[in-house]
Amino acid sequence: MSKIKSLEIKIGLEVHCQLTNLKTKLFCSCSSDYRGKEPNTLICPICMGMPGTLPVLNEKALEDAIMVALALNSKISERMLFFRKNYFYPDMPKNFQISQYDKAGGVPFALGGYIQINGKKVRIRRIQLEEDPGKLSYDGTIESSNHTLVDYNRAGIALIEIVTEPDMETPKEARLFLEKLRSILEHLNVSDGSLEGSMRCDANISLKGGKRVEVKNISSFKEVERALNFEITRQKNLVLRGMVIGQETRHWDETRRITVSLRMKEEEQDYRYFPEPDLVPIIIPRERIKEIEQKMPELPDERRKRFIEQYNLSPQSAEILTRSKAMADFFEESVKIYGNPKEISNWMIGELSSYLNEKSIEIDELTLTSKQLVDLIKLIDEGVISRKMAKSVLQDMLLTGKMAGDIVKEKGLEKILDKEYIGSIVEKILKENPQAVKDAIFDKKAMNYLMGQLMKKTEGKIDPKMASEVLRKRLSELAKFITP
Ligand code: ZN
Ligand code: MN
Repeated sequence: MSKIKSLEIKIGLEVHCQLTNLKTKLFCSCSSDYRGKEPNTLICPICMGMPGTLPVLNEKALEDAIMVALALNSKISERMLFFRKNYFYPDMPKNFQISQYDKAGGVPFALGGYIQINGKKVRIRRIQLEEDPGKLSYDGTIESSNHTLVDYNRAGIALIEIVTEPDMETPKEARLFLEKLRSILEHLNVSDGSLEGSMRCDANISLKGGKRVEVKNISSFKEVERALNFEITRQKNLVLRGMVIGQETRHWDETRRITVSLRMKEEEQDYRYFPEPDLVPIIIPRERIKEIEQKMPELPDERRKRFIEQYNLSPQSAEILTRSKAMADFFEESVKIYGNPKEISNWMIGELSSYLNEKSIEIDELTLTSKQLVDLIKLIDEGVISRKMAKSVLQDMLLTGKMAGDIVKEKGLEKILDKEYIGSIVEKILKENPQAVKDAIFDKKAMNYLMGQLMKKTEGKIDPKMASEVLRKRLSELAKFITP
């Protein structure tokens, strides 16, 4: 580990996020709701780049992008330009992508900014607005497939591209950055990270003394940490053997969980960037930005602070609970119906989070609702089940989707609270263990043995407080008849 550290890892990310809350594509009126649709049905002459057609900017997309830039503390350009990025690839029906450019007179939508992760600022270099290419599907992997299918339904979907400075030093920081970004976008209600392919990421990694290696095709946040760990180990091994890391583009093979060399990176001049002649420069009025600024929703950092104040949570708990919008929403819904934030937070951060980590899923992928969790906690409060029992009931709930009450009934897990019944079991135990009874009268420690027997006989369902009361009372009665 120390050797890896001395190699000074620098990680930068380029994230493409679809603006999923739009009805139409970025420059035409085709539906943006392309998931699960028949391939190549949501297309028109504009997004297919037919001669004589003209793109028109989706105004809602610009508004959503303004919210993102404000949330990331970026400076929004007063006048932005679209550029053509030319390249020949089957996913690109027009042979160019309408994108933006930060050189040669290009003005991207926004510059600068940062996202805070664990008290550290990860700087944003730029944010741009561009269209998504189509989607290629391979038969198996990109290397083994002997044909490629193309679906243009995705071509023209609005994307924001967010490029960071190489400020991250570990794969974990990269994951935290992406989680935070997703949480911000979801709080803004501009992008739903749970939709397949809505957030995609390329990473560049360099070790001290080596060139920058770009890893493409990281399709989900969960894969980022894995891909980066692989790539760092690969580069580290090269460095330790005295080899030089050259600049290249690699592809993350999700199936084999390795990166493979794909092609030498295109040089910027290969893209032959030039201003998109079909779109006029876009002026972004300052008053419009102010208006949007005033109705910005609460963001994760503010929500975290509010959780600490309003619910009296520790900073760590508040941090975990606001890492995703779904998590924070689940928490607040539960508090609304039950009103014991501490208890709910404990269950969510403890049992629930370890289950989510283990299965590598998000909280909104569960069938469990906040009401169901609260029902479980209520069963503990009412003394129906023990805390320990509740943990196993929760596991059952997560696996089967059943309600807590039903599981408790089905499995007969109710705590035994009937005093008369407890008395009869105590009698039985005393009769079965005469020696232990004698010992227990003069040695308090021996009472634990009898308690253990009681638990065993009732499979842990007896209420320990009641049981020990009854037991103690009986023993003191018996003491009158027994002499040491
Ligand atoms: Zn179209
Ligand atoms: Mn891009």
